Amino acid sequence: TSETLTCHGCGIELQSEDAEKPGYVPKAALSREEVICQRCFRLRHYNEVPDVPLSDEDFVAIANQVTKADAFIVKIVDIFDFEGSWIDMLTRSSDGQDVMIVGNKADVLPKSVNQNKVMLWMRSEAEKRGLQPKDVRLMSASKGHDVEKVARAIDQHRKDRDVYVVGCTNVGKSTFINTLLKQLTGEGDDALTTSRFPGTTLGMIGVELDDGSMLYDTPGIINPEQMAHFVGPKELEQIMPDKEMKPSIYQLNPGQTLFFGGVARLDFVEGSPSSFVCYTANDLHIHRTKTENADDLYERHRGQMLAPPGVESLETFPPLKVHEWEIREEKTDIVIPGLGWITVVNAGVKVKLHLPDGAGATLRSAII
Ligand code: GDP
Repeated sequence: TSETLTCHGCGIELQSEDAEKPGYVPKAALSREEVICQRCFRLRHYNEVPDVPLSDEDFVAIANQVTKADAFIVKIVDIFDFEGSWIDMLTRSSDGQDVMIVGNKADVLPKSVNQNKVMLWMRSEAEKRGLQPKDVRLMSASKGHDVEKVARAIDQHRKDRDVYVVGCTNVGKSTFINTLLKQLTGEGDDALTTSRFPGTTLGMIGVELDDGSMLYDTPGIINPEQMAHFVGPKELEQIMPDKEMKPSIYQLNPGQTLFFGGVARLDFVEGSPSSFVCYTANDLHIHRTKTENADDLYERHRGQMLAPPGVESLETFPPLKVHEWEIREEKTDIVIPGLGWITVVNAGVKVKLHLPDGAGATLRSAII
């Protein structure tokens, strides 16, 4: 027949051509009754939700659905990439909806970080973007830290409403959902009820909560300006902190420069000597030099000593653009999306930051 087959689980149009695309089902499985896509299959049998890529149109459709729904929204962000993992479209349209912001990857914060300060900072960043969150939390989805607390908070706030979990790719949304699903079902139980998202064929997966409400996992949207998309997968491992960060401390004079691999550069332009405490991935090489030699050094050593970007992404990495900052308060963090932050200890410091085009740094009061 010419009728298109749709997944019995999530309603998405089925296809057998591309296993990486939504709605994939192996050809052999198509002849079964009540065919489900591979994604629903994995959810039903392994309580796992694999990521699917999403087009812009699909995202708009989902954002419209989510923001119209009488639901509780759980917005996952990566605390190392707050800016890069923020989904603006959703923010603007979700006025009046209850939103909880959950900062993931708290395990990579040094133990000395004041978590309350981090949450206050997250709240003020959210408010700057026009969102008044009902609640702000931190967790580590991969380590399981505070996931249960987050789950309990969701249950308190949702008041019998459906729950939508939203977030861009790489924030750890799948890791979170999968941990949550294991908690909902208990170890070894595969009896999750999946359901089609009403009125769409977008492959949103829902699981039933104990009162009959649904928890929907919305597909992660890709933010192409994220640092994570500028480098290759091996290089990303060098940039993205994945365990507790050990800060490196530099005592600098004006006229000195720090290179962070080849992805960022900080020039100390003016001010009295100060400590610069760098909270970046332990594997990211920091190189100190004189500012007057920095351009030349970058030309000659980019991709080798000053890497990443290395072999995987040297050709496609965006050019660095200069931003000037004047640090007026002592103990100020310069936050670089996807990279970490640098605490400038003294006040009255002028710096020039060189960042890939598209990335923007922000300042905050130090969280340590
Ligand atoms: P998604 O694209 O949002 O679904 O993100 P994933 O769940 O696939 O996770 C993206 C990356 O972040 C993976 O490399 C995960 O291992 C990592 N990740 C997820 N949660 C955490 C966490 O709590 N801490 C750390 N350090 N890494 C995490």
